[in-house]
Amino acid sequence: MNGHFSAVGDAPAANNFTHGIQVIDEDKAFNANLNDYLTETNVAKAGFNYHLISVFGSQSTGKSTLLNHLFGTNFDVMSEVERRQTTKGIWMAKNKRIAAEGNEDKMADNILVMDVEGTDGRERGEDQDFERKSALFALATSEVLIVNIWEHQVGLYQGANMGLLKTVFEVNLQLFLKDRQSQTRSLLFFVIRDHIGNTPLANLRNTLIQDLTRIWSSIAKPEGLENSKIEDYFDFAFAALPHKILQPERFQEEVQKLSTRFKEGYRSSKDQELEGGVFLPEYHRRIPADGLSVYCKGVWDQIVNNKDLDLPTQQELLAQFRCDEIAREVLVGFDAVIVPLEEQQADAARQGKPGIIPNLGTTGGGAREKCVKAFEIQASRYHKGVYSTKRAELESKIDARLKAIYTTHLTDVHKAGIASFSDAVTAAVKAGQKAGGAYEFAMIVSQQKEKSLDAFRKEAQSLLIEGVAWTNFGPQLRLFEKELDEVSARLRKEELRRLAARVERSVKTRLGDAVGLEFNKLGTGRGGSGAPETGEKPASEKDLWDRVWKVFTDIVDDAAAKFADRAKSFQASEEEVAVGIWRLRRKSWIALRERIDEEMQEGNILMKLRENFEDKFRYDADGVPRIWRPTDDIEGVYTKAREATLALIPLLAKIKLVATGAAPDLVAFIGAQPAGVDIREEDDLVPIGGIDDEDGKTLDDEMAVLSESKRQDLVARFKKMADGVYVEAKRSAIGGITQ
Ligand code: GDP
Ligand code: MG
Repeated sequence: MNGHFSAVGDAPAANNFTHGIQVIDEDKAFNANLNDYLTETNVAKAGFNYHLISVFGSQSTGKSTLLNHLFGTNFDVMSEVERRQTTKGIWMAKNKRIAAEGNEDKMADNILVMDVEGTDGRERGEDQDFERKSALFALATSEVLIVNIWEHQVGLYQGANMGLLKTVFEVNLQLFLKDRQSQTRSLLFFVIRDHIGNTPLANLRNTLIQDLTRIWSSIAKPEGLENSKIEDYFDFAFAALPHKILQPERFQEEVQKLSTRFKEGYRSSKDQELEGGVFLPEYHRRIPADGLSVYCKGVWDQIVNNKDLDLPTQQELLAQFRCDEIAREVLVGFDAVIVPLEEQQADAARQGKPGIIPNLGTTGGGAREKCVKAFEIQASRYHKGVYSTKRAELESKIDARLKAIYTTHLTDVHKAGIASFSDAVTAAVKAGQKAGGAYEFAMIVSQQKEKSLDAFRKEAQSLLIEGVAWTNFGPQLRLFEKELDEVSARLRKEELRRLAARVERSVKTRLGDAVGLEFNKLGTGRGGSGAPETGEKPASEKDLWDRVWKVFTDIVDDAAAKFADRAKSFQASEEEVAVGIWRLRRKSWIALRERIDEEMQEGNILMKLRENFEDKFRYDADGVPRIWRPTDDIEGVYTKAREATLALIPLLAKIKLVATGAAPDLVAFIGAQPAGVDIREEDDLVPIGGIDDEDGKTLDDEMAVLSESKRQDLVARFKKMADGVYVEAKRSAIGGITQ
């Protein structure tokens, strides 16, 4: 299939079509303006609603005259004086004779008539070539072939007309060979001129049919068609007209009658005769009017170059050419809508903004439907196979463009949806915190998720085009939901961290008070039960660590339970809760150690020891302040009190429970490191001796509160301080006497 079609119809405007259009000129050149003519006469947009008639016959037999009367055309006719050939090549004109709408005599719409140059060869010499070529052209295009013949020529078997008919039959067989599938027939309409009236039309008709049969049997038939009959290819119709010059009125009357036969007809059911008019659907060549000029040119090119004329191929070529043309035309409308959207997205991308287009489904889907529909209306009239291929091509072309826009749009809708989900949850949490912390995190998340999903689902649905698979964005919806869940998990983790931080803070505060309270008890050296005289340390001193450990574990267990409760309320997983509690316990331990270290700071602990000592030294067992007299055993009391307080120092130096005689079971308290957690990656967690094997620090080290040197230092300082108190007591005793 070479592209021997080329665009026609873009020749300069301002054509003069008063005489119709010369489709083929005397040099056998095709007229590039044919489509202009069809457009100007409103035939081009008629689809299949047009008819094509060709007229044949010897020169100067009044063919042009007949057409002008019958169809109101303005073909050149020979003047009575000059008597030379006028019609050259092939002319075409549209019927101008229009009966009023609703009139029974109304002719068919859009009748095109072709006036074919006469064929007696008088002025073309022996050139029978044009006769053959014009016959082929007429048969390839026309539904009705009018054969114009004088009455006195009827029965003259050897006449010029018979040569023409022979050519027509041969040429028709040639076409048929290439197009056996098609049911196309033609009507041979004999118009007998200068009918005197002595011989009835019926007789003339019989004579003509006999002649036609004889011609038919005389022509060489291709293989396989030897037994074919003329009726297999042609229908026949007959009309007679009186002499135009001798009987002008009767001529007019009969022409008027004849014109009424040019309307749609049908085959009568009983005798298969034509009824109604001469245009039977089966005669129509099924070339859409907007492709007629291209088709005619293609056909003529083949004919003029003596190539085998193969009409199915011509129709396929025409379909390809026209479908491409129509596709280009409908894409103009599509571009008008889509290009601005493409530019809008490109601009947005350059500026790093989202390429979201409001109402994209309506705009894009609408443009697609309009484009495809417009293509369908025009292009579906052409060769079915070519049409569906070209339609698929067009669809994939517009879908590629739409898909790019839709994908960018939906990707950005996705991003915006995720961001606004995250923002909405965060804002709701903040509002909840402001309102006193009584918010349901899980509910906030599930409400916002539903809202976001709903919005995305609506957007995706608005993009759906019925029957277009790629517009089903179900997978994208699932992807969106998956990311919402990921973001939810992240937000939940953050919420969990916030909760943990709150709990840790409250643990710290409570520990501060409770541990401080326990250490303060050191200041009252008499304690609750013990008696300093016996040297026995009161229980409140001895079991300091038991008490500290107890308040510590109570506070942490209570906080852990609260944490677990709250975390579960927003669907934190078992693992997340376990990790949270594990972290809480570790951090609480560190907080406790810090609190203890604070108590153990030199100034603090020395003050506590001094209070403890002074309490023992300055008060008696009943808590009454001693007034030293010189006779008192000041030294004895002093030594006892000092030793009792000194005995506290090794006790304080290491955390050890009286109950078990060992360090508290920190390992059991903190619990095993949860699976999947690596302490080295938790940068807010400090390694704990005996728990983590960092730095080789042991549980013993972890429990050490005072180092050996600090201890000695503390002992020395305490002793110095106690000595001072003793000296002062001594002085006051002596002073008391002098007073
Ligand atoms: P064409 O060459 O077949 O197109 O013939 P034209 O229409 O040009 O007419 C040729 C001549 O025949 C003109 O001089 C007409 O006046 C004349 N003519 C037209 N109609 C008739 C007719 O019905 N009878 C006769 N005898 N002459 C006619
Ligand atoms: Mg003529």
